[in-house]
Amino acid sequence: MKNEEYGIGKVWMFLLLAGYISTLLSCSATSFLSKQGKLKPAHDCHVHIMSPTLIADWKAMGIPFSRPDHYYADIDSIIKNVGTSTIDLIAMAHVYTSEEFYQGSDGPEKLAKENDYVLSMAAIYPRKVRPFISVDPLRHDAIGELKRCYAVNNNIGLKMHNSASQIYLTVPAHVERVKSVFMAAAEMGIPVLMHFDNWHPKFGARDLNILVDSILAHAKPMVLTIPHFGTSGGFSQKTKDFLDGFIALRQQGKIPGKHKIYLDISAVALDKDSEGVTKLNDAEFAELKGYITKIGAQHIVFGTDYPLYTPFVYAEILRGRVGLKPRTVKQLMKPKG
Ligand SMILES: [Zn+2]
Repeated sequence: MKNEEYGIGKVWMFLLLAGYISTLLSCSATSFLSKQGKLKPAHDCHVHIMSPTLIADWKAMGIPFSRPDHYYADIDSIIKNVGTSTIDLIAMAHVYTSEEFYQGSDGPEKLAKENDYVLSMAAIYPRKVRPFISVDPLRHDAIGELKRCYAVNNNIGLKMHNSASQIYLTVPAHVERVKSVFMAAAEMGIPVLMHFDNWHPKFGARDLNILVDSILAHAKPMVLTIPHFGTSGGFSQKTKDFLDGFIALRQQGKIPGKHKIYLDISAVALDKDSEGVTKLNDAEFAELKGYITKIGAQHIVFGTDYPLYTPFVYAEILRGRVGLKPRTVKQLMKPKG
């Protein structure tokens, strides 16, 4: 596969990640939810944490951080800012095997240390925080790492990032590696969060078909969440194409009913540009509402991609800009899986 085929996507994702760090929350936004005190977001399925080491490594690469380190690294600060009853705390350890984000030769060791950090932070609040460790199916012993973390905490989830790890399900060798990781996770009852968009120009329905036919069909019943409604944030034609493909497969009964599959709405309803991803206009917010109805709130999970947003601010966007009824927002925010 030629480099230039995914070059733009890689650069874009780098900017997006940087954007998540530097374009921070509009905390001034008031929320009807908080005023009423009724619709306190119950669960945030997509909250990032970074260790002080990862922050230092990225600062050394010139990535700007607009807040003090504790905002990204300290579990007490994160819990206070997020404010939900429960949190899925998502590791970014997989960046250490991506040459775009780390050039050292000790990537797998750094990856394991980053996972250890996330596990140690989650261990402080075991009933509130479920850690999602992250692996790279192609560049290290991902199953070994999964088992190592599971031995520390059997309430973990697993994050994979198809863009950062350059996973192309159209490549049979990649399917085999990803499938083996899925099978291991399903065997251990570990939920999977897979950033599915790999930024290949032809990414879309064909990747989804391979996921369903070659991986999900063979795995034991499992919980799979696909963030950002299938793409990488915002609500573009690519997002709509993915959702159309997903809805069609479901209508045709092709998605194995044994699994629980959710779409995570984090970073979709953007009310601000996030370096490289355009915010939605009014027509797009309305169109997004139509898609949420088509998918069904019971199949969607609420996430913020913190530090991108906090739950109160994002819930207010879903109500005020997307136009969802409060009870629909509440349904999205219920813990599932
Ligand atoms: Zn994320």
